[in-house]
Amino acid sequence: MTTYDVRMEGVTKRFDDVVAVDDVDLSVESGQFLTLLGPSGCGKTTLLRCIDGFETPTEGTVYIQDEDVTYVPPFDRDTSMVFQSYALFPHMTVGENVAFGLQMQGLDAGGEAGRGGVGNSLKRLFRRKSNEEIEARVSRMLELVELPGTADRDVSELSGGQQQRIALARALITEPTVLLLDEPLGALDLKLRKNMQVELKNLQEELETTFVYVTHDQEEALTMSDRIAVMNDGRIEQLGTATEIYEEPATEFVADFIGETNLIHGDYGETDDGAVIERDGTRFHVPRDPAAGTSAAFAIRPEKIRVGADADGLRNVFDGEVVDEIYKGNLGKYVVELDTGDRLTVDMQIRDQGGSLRRGETVRLGWAADNCVVLTE
Ligand code: ATP
Repeated sequence: MTTYDVRMEGVTKRFDDVVAVDDVDLSVESGQFLTLLGPSGCGKTTLLRCIDGFETPTEGTVYIQDEDVTYVPPFDRDTSMVFQSYALFPHMTVGENVAFGLQMQGLDAGGEAGRGGVGNSLKRLFRRKSNEEIEARVSRMLELVELPGTADRDVSELSGGQQQRIALARALITEPTVLLLDEPLGALDLKLRKNMQVELKNLQEELETTFVYVTHDQEEALTMSDRIAVMNDGRIEQLGTATEIYEEPATEFVADFIGETNLIHGDYGETDDGAVIERDGTRFHVPRDPAAGTSAAFAIRPEKIRVGADADGLRNVFDGEVVDEIYKGNLGKYVVELDTGDRLTVDMQIRDQGGSLRRGETVRLGWAADNCVVLTE
């Protein structure tokens, strides 16, 4: 049976006139890596904070596992948060910073008792643990994030990537049901960021902890997630696997936001010759879509367009002129203006010397109807 670690029902969060989160339903399966992806200001962080308890929804209900936590304060929820700014204490050692994860929940041996509401037995056990046991636990966490033996070092001596691992260890030491991560790799340079993406995903699979991850970087989302929720204007536009989101975008916004795409608008209709989107007398062949309205668009990815002789025999074939060359190498990226006036971005694998296209050149483009995705406006 599927179990869910997070469920949100009809969650809306308003800040005066701003609707940051707009009537969101969301379920995150146990052990899943779910990413909230969307442009700046679309409500990702606010939604995450509603799960963590730093924001209370204006309307709706939040469940962690099956407990209604809508009005439960952050420290009494079985969640932990990792931020972009690592928020480590510079005057503390690495070990003290990691152990602080326990203290934040009042679970250290010498600190105040838990603030109530933290239900699981592991946490009750921690309240009785000695300093030696806490040290052992910190060491294990440091091994997990591949920084063994650093407990006595000053955090300020560590690099950005190492500091983020410490922040991760601090968040994981309480063994939360759900780990929430708000652009945790945003401050790292590209190479380190890519390495950390893989490491984070591996760590999540090893721990089987539910991760809810916020990013505006679509490549990061596609690399790491089991499922992606694409957000726009406070709403979830589509929820699916990376492949579903890329291959079958549900809306124009998703098609445009994920990867690169060409969008052509027109009127959808079904003819004896199959489904078409027609504009100014030009017919573009598309897959049949019973849900399509009259006014529609279709999306075709640059890599799905064939050039020259490869275009022969395809359902959509048009002549055009190369008007821009974006980059070369083994992959040529071109903008081609069709005789219909539409401008399409085309990716072309360049296999032969001299095989690239030149600006001003006339070319034939073709694509299969099945490679188009119909989108209703
Ligand atoms: P970013 O990627 O830039 O962090 P985001 O998708 O995480 O953006 P949010 O930070 O959730 O977006 O913000 C959503 C909307 O809510 C924005 O218009 C923002 O200005 C507004 N907002 C967020 N927090 C507050 C607040 N405390 N008071 C007023 N408005 C807020």
